[in-house]
Amino acid sequence: MLGAAGMALTMPFPGLAAQAPASAPANTLKLADDLFVLTLPGEPNVVVQTGRGGALLVDGCSARSADALMKAVAALPGGGPVHTLFNTHWHPEQTGSNEQLGTAGRTIIAHENTRLWLTTDVTWPWDGRRFTRLAKIAQPNKTFYDTGTLESGVRYGYISDAAHTDGDMYVYFPQQNVLVVGDAVSGQGWPVVDWVSGGWIGGMVGGVQRLQTVGNAQTRIVPARGAVLEMQDLRTQYDMYGTIYDRLTQLLNKGRGPSEAVAAKPTKEYDALMGNPDEFVRRAFESLWAYLSPDA
Ligand SMILES: [Zn+2]
Repeated sequence: MLGAAGMALTMPFPGLAAQAPASAPANTLKLADDLFVLTLPGEPNVVVQTGRGGALLVDGCSARSADALMKAVAALPGGGPVHTLFNTHWHPEQTGSNEQLGTAGRTIIAHENTRLWLTTDVTWPWDGRRFTRLAKIAQPNKTFYDTGTLESGVRYGYISDAAHTDGDMYVYFPQQNVLVVGDAVSGQGWPVVDWVSGGWIGGMVGGVQRLQTVGNAQTRIVPARGAVLEMQDLRTQYDMYGTIYDRLTQLLNKGRGPSEAVAAKPTKEYDALMGNPDEFVRRAFESLWAYLSPDA
């Protein structure tokens, strides 16, 4: 079960779920003198590193909030124009500033798979949501396959397990000991398993395990949604997703389908803390098809 630590950590980060008006200010959490979490109303977390050369962002909100984000970044202590943007994955809630920053000639770094997803239209079959490819100028202009290091010492790498998508990446700030993980880890409720772009429940297990090898016991972890986490929270999530993975693969091996998986309540001991699991279980079960039963 997610322990008391996970609960307590959720509390000092208010306003995240609140649907405040678009004019509401960004919620700012200071992680270090030059490192902040900015959360605009209705948007995922953005991590900002400030410095003499300007600001570095990890993720860039959806397009409707791009202008507000740039204003909030400029207003931070030591804030200034953005020189570098990381896309932790291709979803529009992370890539909405790409066009503005790409047009301005800024560096946009992502895993090569993320760039590829942004060059194609995507539709989610479970809710019909359609995503349109980005203009060339908005696509990541510096991609990688494995790991990389900036001149400043900031390290980044591929989460090759395919947890949320097959292009997930982390960004690690060693000086501040902060690890930014995008949607590969959820800090607030059940995650989305985007199997259309390669994410799967087995990758969620592998991802939270892999991320424990980046940093150390004191590392603070910033997910795209929810509170700042600790390494202990990743261990707890590893146990939880591992348990759910085992149960879902057993159901798959018995020939069950997604609705039967939902009815089997494979998450029951976690639901009080994590919320209604039905959509998560359905996506997680469907995600097994591509990896474990290619003929399905
Ligand atoms: Zn996402």
